[in-house]
Amino acid sequence: MNEVSDIGVIGLAVMGENLILNMESKGFHVTAFNRSVDKVEHFVNGRAKGKNIYGAKSIEDLVSSLKSPRKVMLMVKAGKPVDDFIDLLIPHLDKGDIIIDGGNSHFPDTERRVKYVESKGLYFIGTGVSGGEEGALLGPSIMPGGSKEAWPAVKPIFQGIAAKVADGAPCCDWVGSGGAGHFVKMVHNGIEYGDMQLINEIYHIMKNVLGMSADEMHEVFKEWNEGELDSYLIEITRDILAYKEADGTPIIDRILDTAGQKGTGKWTGTVALELGVPLTLITESVFARCLSALKDERVAASKVLTAGPTPAFEGDKKAFIDHLRDALYAAKVISYAQGYQMMKAAAKEYNWELSYGNIALMWRGGCIIRSRFLSNIKEAFDKNPDLANLLLDPYFAEKIQTCQNGLRQVASTAIQNGIPVPCLNAAISFYDGYRTERLPANLLQAQRDYFGAHTYERTDQPRGQFFHTNWTGRG
Ligand code: NAP
Repeated sequence: MNEVSDIGVIGLAVMGENLILNMESKGFHVTAFNRSVDKVEHFVNGRAKGKNIYGAKSIEDLVSSLKSPRKVMLMVKAGKPVDDFIDLLIPHLDKGDIIIDGGNSHFPDTERRVKYVESKGLYFIGTGVSGGEEGALLGPSIMPGGSKEAWPAVKPIFQGIAAKVADGAPCCDWVGSGGAGHFVKMVHNGIEYGDMQLINEIYHIMKNVLGMSADEMHEVFKEWNEGELDSYLIEITRDILAYKEADGTPIIDRILDTAGQKGTGKWTGTVALELGVPLTLITESVFARCLSALKDERVAASKVLTAGPTPAFEGDKKAFIDHLRDALYAAKVISYAQGYQMMKAAAKEYNWELSYGNIALMWRGGCIIRSRFLSNIKEAFDKNPDLANLLLDPYFAEKIQTCQNGLRQVASTAIQNGIPVPCLNAAISFYDGYRTERLPANLLQAQRDYFGAHTYERTDQPRGQFFHTNWTGRG
């Protein structure tokens, strides 16, 4: 087989197979390869039969089937398998060839791999691919970063297979150097955790405080999905609430309340702590999953810690549902504001030139957090690329000032009724903290100076001058 394929893809699990079929459907010739070679046979004689897809029998066969500059995309398990394949490929590739990692790699690994592969005279792209298996087949959101010199060769393929928004713009553009693509994908996954937990908290209040049935909740989510909350996650929540078992009862009531996680949310929280960014909402959403996983302990505690309010609602239910909608919208804006704050901090730390408007566009379609509201975020950063915080954009500042009352009403009602709402609380606390000119950190500084002589600055002296007080009078 000689130089006929536009790209080679290694990894024939669900993501790799679907991406290959997507590429082929857009007119690209693809070579497929897998560690367990029997899967190559199975694929070319099954889903790939009759298509412009060549099944390689070895790495040498794969490499010799590719047009120059050769492009090899890894869709394998993140971690050591990626390093192993890089080392297997390098001896067979020539200067200017490109290795792409489309798995869920952690961005520091991608930073390291870009340097390593470039040191061998090759290029490396680490790209986030979002949208799950359906996205991979029909149009994912793609977030590439790494060796920018390689982008022109890869761009037509990636933009060709990516999801498109209404005006035809692809949900894929160059993100930045080093691990920037995988960093943005990580933040995307963190935002996904936050969005999901917020919807869960709203559902919990609807069910346990307002006493709404699954059908009633379905109707509300259906209505919300036609307004500014229009998004994939609201849409699937609407459908989940309507789903009935054979006996006509909602399946949702029989699903065990323990959530799993694969680690990208945890990475987002850990990196936020490392960068010193107050990414409170996403981090709470990770902890909420951890708490949900303590099922046996919670069942035991529910028998011991019986003191607490019994949920009850008196008042205008319809007006409160409007508060719930406003609370969800406001908290979502705050979560994205925190996510963007984190990307800004990382761009500074790692010297990435991130285009924040383009990131919103990449998330606008194809991925789990796709929503109408990302267009407003794109507009905000297009108008002012140096926007310090999304909450300060005139459109969002006005929106949040209107919706914050709903958020306050909902968070306080939840606390009064004993319903845990860690993310809604994180949202309102961040909003109030961010808009407070004078926080109580003056006392904190005094305490630190008291026990550790850490010094403090004074409000009546220029910044940068540090003072210490002998608080006890002892020498
Ligand atoms: P996966 O289950 O994560 O990985 C399976 C693939 O990795 C197979 O091709 C397997 O080869 C190969 N592999 C596993 N261990 C290996 C090793 N030690 N050495 C060499 N190859 C090894 O597959 P996936 O779900 O399709 O995901 C692929 C990548 O995309 C992952 O990084 C994943 O996190 C990411 N991703 C997945 C989704 C999703 O919805 N599934 C969404 C976005 C991103 P064998 O057949 O020989 O075992």
